[in-house]
Amino acid sequence: MSKKLANPETPIHKWTLPGIPEGFSISIKRDDMTGSTLSGNKVRKLEFLLAEALDRGCKHVITCGGIQAETGESSLLIPVGGSDEIGLFGYINVFQEMITQGLLEDFDDIVFACGSGGTAEGLCIANYLTGQKLKVHGIIVSDDKKYFHDHVNSLLVKMNLNVSSPDILNLIEGYKGTGYDFIIKIASMTGIMLDPVYTGKAARGLVHELNNNPHLFKGRRILFLHTGGIFGLYDNRINSTLKLQNEQDNMIQMWESIDDYPS
Ligand SMILES: *Cc1c(COP(=O)(O)O)cnc(C)c1O
Repeated sequence: MSKKLANPETPIHKWTLPGIPEGFSISIKRDDMTGSTLSGNKVRKLEFLLAEALDRGCKHVITCGGIQAETGESSLLIPVGGSDEIGLFGYINVFQEMITQGLLEDFDDIVFACGSGGTAEGLCIANYLTGQKLKVHGIIVSDDKKYFHDHVNSLLVKMNLNVSSPDILNLIEGYKGTGYDFIIKIASMTGIMLDPVYTGKAARGLVHELNNNPHLFKGRRILFLHTGGIFGLYDNRINSTLKLQNEQDNMIQMWESIDDYPS
């Protein structure tokens, strides 16, 4: 019996992200809508990791800081973020899903938050295997470039792929700070909730890089991957910023027409 964990075919639609320079257009892939509110992008990897656990007859999965298993029963060890050669297939699968949604025709660049590397690995390897039509940009929210390039390179070796990480993945540093102002502004102007740990940093990085390093991008049609993370907003820390902004604008901006919404 097979069961799907994620709601696949999450929509892609236009995103009127403020602060984008003339000539660029931004769309957003809604992997905050995978149906697993808690995990966002992680459920994409878990589809493969938990299938592996079942295939191997494991009774337990163990991940960082997780609950100890009964000894004597077999367990599957899942690394931080589910980012290994099995979890990798989560975002290879998403790449394939996006191809059916017009990815290769409609976009030049894809941008997302890079936390443990699995999302980046799936996307850059799938892009490489399909002729590197896009440029893949991971905005680092923890660790540094060297850590992720090493991580990707070790997977490339395991997969017998004769290419090196810097040739297929552009890593961007410098956006580890949390911007609650930015998150509130984007939510009120575009209706998209970002989170303070991952997607808020990545979107802020995207705006900044488009303004300051536009040559980094292959083209002008940018797809931002929303990886979820809504529960990062439930720690109360946004409240003080909200109170400060209370008397300021409450503008809600809608999509201009139904045509802007994905078919
Ligand atoms: C884990 C996570 C990421 C980072 O993805 P990795 O595959 O670990 O690099 C991005 N956004 C959210 C919301 C996450 O939970």
